[in-house]
Amino acid sequence: MKFNGTRKVKNVILLIGDGMGFSYTSGLRYFNHASQNGFMTPTIFDQYFVGSQSTYSLDRESNITDSAAAGTALATGYKTYNGALGLNIDQQAVPTVLEYAKFRGKSTGLVGTSQINHATLAAFAAHIESREQYDQIADDYLDERIEGNLKIDVMLGGGTSYFVRNDRNLVEEFVKNRFGYVSNLQELVTNKNEQLIGLFAPVELPKQIDRDSTVPSLTQMTKAALQRLQQNPNGFFLLVEGSQIDWAGHDNDIVGAMSEVKDFEAAFKAAIQFASDREDTIVIATADHSTGGMSIDRNDNYKWNPNVIKSITSTPFVIARRLHDTKDMTILKHHMPFSLHEEDLKTIKLTLDMAVEDTREALINIINHYSSTGWTTKGHTGEDVPVYAYGLNRHLFSGRMENSDIARILFQIMD
Ligand SMILES: [Zn+2]
Repeated sequence: MKFNGTRKVKNVILLIGDGMGFSYTSGLRYFNHASQNGFMTPTIFDQYFVGSQSTYSLDRESNITDSAAAGTALATGYKTYNGALGLNIDQQAVPTVLEYAKFRGKSTGLVGTSQINHATLAAFAAHIESREQYDQIADDYLDERIEGNLKIDVMLGGGTSYFVRNDRNLVEEFVKNRFGYVSNLQELVTNKNEQLIGLFAPVELPKQIDRDSTVPSLTQMTKAALQRLQQNPNGFFLLVEGSQIDWAGHDNDIVGAMSEVKDFEAAFKAAIQFASDREDTIVIATADHSTGGMSIDRNDNYKWNPNVIKSITSTPFVIARRLHDTKDMTILKHHMPFSLHEEDLKTIKLTLDMAVEDTREALINIINHYSSTGWTTKGHTGEDVPVYAYGLNRHLFSGRMENSDIARILFQIMD
């Protein structure tokens, strides 16, 4: 890679759609397409496609990555073992692009829809042997300093239960360090603090399709972060994660998957809009791996039915819970307004005497059947994932590369 004569970038916005392989962004194109036939309008992702990256980790037992190892590669330039956060394969702490940005006097931000101490986000700001150590990751966000300064200026997502604990109240400590604290959309919109921690759920945020008006969207959080970070004359590094695309993939839940890809699509749009007014910013969107082996068609009839997915009002989990609460099968007509067969209704009804999880599973199977969505696994898959870029130096991310190359390029081009 040649960087001689490359103009340095002031601001970096990196967006990671967790688990968002090609089938998800192709699925989005079908999903956005209003009619069933004709030429499909390119998505925002299509417009900024530049290349692909390989996601495999250096784990001794697995050749498919988890989110921690992939996050670490994207954050530090080092592929590592599954479960590692901010450590190389020899378990040595390696600097992340977020930390480097802070070191260069920039402001930094972490935004996501999972708890903000979850694997992908944590890989950019913690150095820990195992991703399961949630409390310790949260502690790191406050305790690890870069030349005496707190390393993250804006944190928005879920996770109160890890930040307000019996043994330690990190929110109070952040506030003592002149941070603002917000816990709902109203507070987020009216808050004026330049440094801010916003926790909008005990653990993860509801998926977009299930949110009420008190919970911010990924876009609203991204805009709130940009508003603050851009105050710094030295620029900023912002990581935005569409955290739950992956979770929906693990559940083989296409309704949740499209809900979260839509949420991520809007945040990507907002980032591009910010960058398009200026010439000193790079926006990169990519995934850490794909999940579930999602496939567009499974019924051998050359017809995927996104309109079925579009018509559904909530995630299968929420519908299943309502069915259990009400024991009223007629609510299905509202939540899944397409014609279900007698047999499907019987199957669902049977699960009402079982666990909510069983009802959810039944709904997921039925939705996959009617939408003709296929899945091959409940885990991650090893195919390459897309890279999208906009702005200054976007060409450096084109072609086929390793996930670790993204961080290596970012270290080089950050002003
Ligand atoms: Zn992941």
